[in-house]
Amino acid sequence: MEKGLVIKSTGSWYTVKNGPNIIKCKIKGKFRIKGISTTNPVTVGDLVNYKIISKNNIGIITNIRERKNYIIRRASNLSREAHLIACNIDQAFLMFTLNFPETPLEFVDRFLVTSEAYHIPTILIINKIDLYDAPTLEKLISIKKIYKNAGYQCYETSVTKRINVDIIKDLMKNKINVISGNSGVGKSALINAINKNLNLKVEEISSYHKKGKHTTTFSEMFELEEGGYIIDTPGIKGFGLIDFEDNEISLFFPEIFKTSKDCQYYNCSHTHEPKCAVKKALEDGTVSMSRYRSYVNILNKDESKYRIE
Ligand code: GDP
Ligand code: ZN
Repeated sequence: MEKGLVIKSTGSWYTVKNGPNIIKCKIKGKFRIKGISTTNPVTVGDLVNYKIISKNNIGIITNIRERKNYIIRRASNLSREAHLIACNIDQAFLMFTLNFPETPLEFVDRFLVTSEAYHIPTILIINKIDLYDAPTLEKLISIKKIYKNAGYQCYETSVTKRINVDIIKDLMKNKINVISGNSGVGKSALINAINKNLNLKVEEISSYHKKGKHTTTFSEMFELEEGGYIIDTPGIKGFGLIDFEDNEISLFFPEIFKTSKDCQYYNCSHTHEPKCAVKKALEDGTVSMSRYRSYVNILNKDESKYRIE
């Protein structure tokens, strides 16, 4: 039985890479994730077993290895079915900018909540620092502090001036990476700066996106020249499709969760209760006010501030 990695899916065909060999595969039988029903059983990042059934390298996927994580979205607005976007992701990069355009921090926090829930370690990239004036650079320092304090790696970059690009390149090496962020922040520019070979592909993809009519696009992984992959996730801004229970949300704010062990009530929501350690931590800065506000807005299902086109 041969083993390989699914690097592209088009609905009925899957491209499987096994060392230097590329095999076009179909699936036989039913594959299911426990508890959820998906429109596509196999996705990029899947490690599979297959067998060759014809001389021109056509195969059949016979088994999918257990996934360490996956990202899904609702197949359509009305559907209860989910569409598997990618799996076995080593890390996500969330790129944002403090200006040109300004990204609300609540958008960043909501993304981090879903990546925590999906068990995907996430690294933050603040791009376009070459365009920042002195007050914005001050803000950059305090924002980096907020996220480092919450337990996240955070790098400031200028893709155009190639500042810190090689640090990101090294971090991506030999890993399966996802890059996300609102449009215009410099994701394509970064991918091109890291990987000259991908130039053409990235352009193709973004022009494809701009047409905006294909809702069931399929993901693809691009191989990095020094090893590892970047997954392109068409149209994905966050790792949505999670219906949180109120008492779960604080689990996905690592610094709030850590602090909450000292709250008087075990089920403290950190909003109105007496002797709340989280509220106390706001005073000494262990929990930042902006992260706390995002937490409260998520709890209150207040989505007015984070929506981004
Ligand atoms: P994407 O939508 O996130 O893929 O963003 P693009 O990569 O298409 O970049 C959007 C625009 O920002 C392009 O005009 C880039 O040239 C520009 N850009 C990207 N990174 C930087 C940067 O670090 N500094 C400056 N000044 N412009 C940048
Ligand atoms: Zn509390």
